[in-house]
Amino acid sequence: MSRSLLIADDSKSVRDAVLKALMDTGIFSDFFQAENGIKALDILLKNQIDFIITDVIMPGVDGFKLVSTIKNQEKFKNTPIIMLTGQKDSIDKIKGLELGASDYVTKPFDPGELIARVKVLIRMMELQEELTQKNLFLKSLNQKLERIAITDELTGLFNRRYFFSRFVAEFERCKRFEQNLTCIMIDIDHFKKINDTRGHQVGDIVLKKVGQIISESQRAYDIFARIGGEEFVGSLSNVDQKGAVEFAERLRKKIESYNFLEEVGETLKATISIGIGMYPHKDKDIVIKDIDDIIKIADDALYKAKNNGRNMVVVG
Ligand code: GH3
Ligand code: MG
Ligand code: MG
Repeated sequence: MSRSLLIADDSKSVRDAVLKALMDTGIFSDFFQAENGIKALDILLKNQIDFIITDVIMPGVDGFKLVSTIKNQEKFKNTPIIMLTGQKDSIDKIKGLELGASDYVTKPFDPGELIARVKVLIRMMELQEELTQKNLFLKSLNQKLERIAITDELTGLFNRRYFFSRFVAEFERCKRFEQNLTCIMIDIDHFKKINDTRGHQVGDIVLKKVGQIISESQRAYDIFARIGGEEFVGSLSNVDQKGAVEFAERLRKKIESYNFLEEVGETLKATISIGIGMYPHKDKDIVIKDIDDIIKIADDALYKAKNNGRNMVVVG
């Protein structure tokens, strides 16, 4: 891996000594030099620098200011910095480390020692990078797992468990703020017949497509899920009965007019029945105290839609 080194020191002989020590080690492929802190910052701004060796006393921006400026930037959080200090300057060593330097080497330095210290810091940086990569990987894996845990695999809609957890919260919110909440129960008509006559795989195509049509029809803050084989449920917030029926009718018509086997040049039609439950209920005597009540009303309405001939919307 090619790495670059920045040496900041106002003494050319020190810079040369550092260069000479590290040039042929193969640790670095690029070398940048600065005779003061300002130059160093300018180089850091314009180039990719992986390692910094800096003097303490330099004109203008000194080593301390340089280190604290670098360490204030997220980009250089893990960039190793070695400070070059005089033999007696133990206060400087402490101050440098406190500001964020990784290590110090006293001048005049033994080249072997400098190489060894640089190697240790490079190894630490590599481990840090590895750890960061692994953490990123774990984070994305976690996000995927979280997504899988709440998704219905076949349709890509939410699953049953997630729907109910969200619906409870949504119900509580609507109760508190005196807003409407609608529960929509959707069931594909005579789905068993589709499976029986065209096969289970074609049945799955219909389920997927119905899921997709539902997903395309919903608004961002609606929650829709597949809760059983060919049954779907939805939560619509803040619509009145007219709006809920309009939504359901639109969905019903979209599915009624869709040819599920268009792509293979065949014709397969399907219809859905929809039951709607609304909180608060239009009949003041019917009190909805929890989500079980509103779901039961939607379920009963769906049952009526089935009994009255299917392919229709009924409000409970
Ligand atoms: P109704 O109009 O009264 O709703 O009749 P139906 O045939 O749609 O209802 P029923 O409950 O009798 O049948 C549902 C069928 O759905 C039976 C079951 O085999 C099928 N099913 C359940 N899950 C899946 C699935 O994941 N894929 C497929 N292809 N079929 C499924
Ligand atoms: Mg059905
Ligand atoms: Mg069913």
